[in-house]
Amino acid sequence: MTTQLLRYAINSSNELVSIEDVPNGISCQCFCPKCKEPLVAKNAGIKKEHHFAHCSGSDCPGATMTALHLLAQKAFQQTKKIKTPHYNGAYYKESSSTVIFDKVTLEQTVKKDDIYLRPDCVAQINKGNSTHELWVEMRVTHEVDEKKQSNIKKTGVACIEIDLRPLLMTNFNEDTVAKYITNDEQNRIWISCPKLDKKDEERRREHQEKKRLKEEDERRRALIYELEHKKLKEEIHQWLISGDDERAKQIQHEIEQCPYDDDYFVVSQLVEQESILHYILHSPKNQAGREIFYTLARFYYKQFNQCRQEIWQQLKKWQWRQFDATQENDILFEELLSAYIIAKIVQQTDVLFCYDEFMYKKWINLYINKRKVRENCFICLAPLYQHIIATNCKDITELTEWVIINAPNIASLFLKAIDYFDTHSKTQASPKQKLATEHLRQYVMNNPNSEDEITAKILRTCYPYTFAPQYNL
Ligand SMILES: [Zn+2]
Repeated sequence: MTTQLLRYAINSSNELVSIEDVPNGISCQCFCPKCKEPLVAKNAGIKKEHHFAHCSGSDCPGATMTALHLLAQKAFQQTKKIKTPHYNGAYYKESSSTVIFDKVTLEQTVKKDDIYLRPDCVAQINKGNSTHELWVEMRVTHEVDEKKQSNIKKTGVACIEIDLRPLLMTNFNEDTVAKYITNDEQNRIWISCPKLDKKDEERRREHQEKKRLKEEDERRRALIYELEHKKLKEEIHQWLISGDDERAKQIQHEIEQCPYDDDYFVVSQLVEQESILHYILHSPKNQAGREIFYTLARFYYKQFNQCRQEIWQQLKKWQWRQFDATQENDILFEELLSAYIIAKIVQQTDVLFCYDEFMYKKWINLYINKRKVRENCFICLAPLYQHIIATNCKDITELTEWVIINAPNIASLFLKAIDYFDTHSKTQASPKQKLATEHLRQYVMNNPNSEDEITAKILRTCYPYTFAPQYNL
């Protein structure tokens, strides 16, 4: 840093004066702001910049810095205006702002508790009966040291430090120093700011609390996941020791296919179809469902009767929902038959008679920690079911058209249902029905978003770990 020539001094009235405002030579009657030695004004020349020199010829390092310090205090006392520093707390931030005070006092000794302090400037704003205070430290040499900083903090008063050193590189004067204090946002820091520190602390606590809750939730999820996963493994184990390796492998495969991820899951076609058929077959008000049921019943009736005794035994074993009945005859024939039909159509396996509560739990176990898959299928298909009930519509062709017009977001799901139904029912679809299905397929192909919407809806409506069957749509 090049040493600036001294351009400000103290006159005989103890005022800070500029070299431009005093008579030339010794008659300026000025003193050095730092060492208080008499000065000589050199402001008549044109070759060299106007300046004060010590009469003794002393170099007096730091005289300019002291002059700047005094000039800054004077400027602030006159404008009563300051630009505060940006507040950059770890959790709370606030931009710089301009504050105008009612009064600025310089070099005033302040006693707070047992601490004596002498801030460069004490600025005050009167608000009603109370006075708001801000201390300002003008830095030209040393920053406010740790001890002083700690003492200032103890007083609970707000304090800022303005670093004036960049001005030493310039030909500063009253104007530039005043502008530096009132307009510049840089070169200043908060030494103490109880009000904003409090906000920062509040934010920190909020943040910690959110973090704590999140961690707690994660721990809870992990625990549930672990427990349910263990249950699932046990179930597979049970299947394995029961000798049904194929079924166990199938379940294992299904589990692996369903990612245990929060953002994505697969709806098994089996689960989907089981849901759809269950509803169609068992809604008591659903005439169309009953029609379908009886058609299917005729198709499977012979097979069903052949193994009716076995079915009955199996029901006992599975502790089926209706099993408070003590006699076979007490169980609704329709229910027994429909269980068989669902097993035949949907499962194509020997997991029989568990389509109801039990089946529900079974599937939930299979798709554990994912979502309420089956339940959400119900939710997704709700508009279709409601339409079937309300209109008593019997015709799959009409339903297809209805879906396209009124519930396009379930078009894709409904198409899957029809396809699955066609594949597994072993009955030929009528030409009219085929045409309708084709129309639906075209619609789904041209509107690929419909499937995304379903997924989105499933994701929206699902909440893990709360299982509540919703059979009454
Ligand atoms: Zn001096």
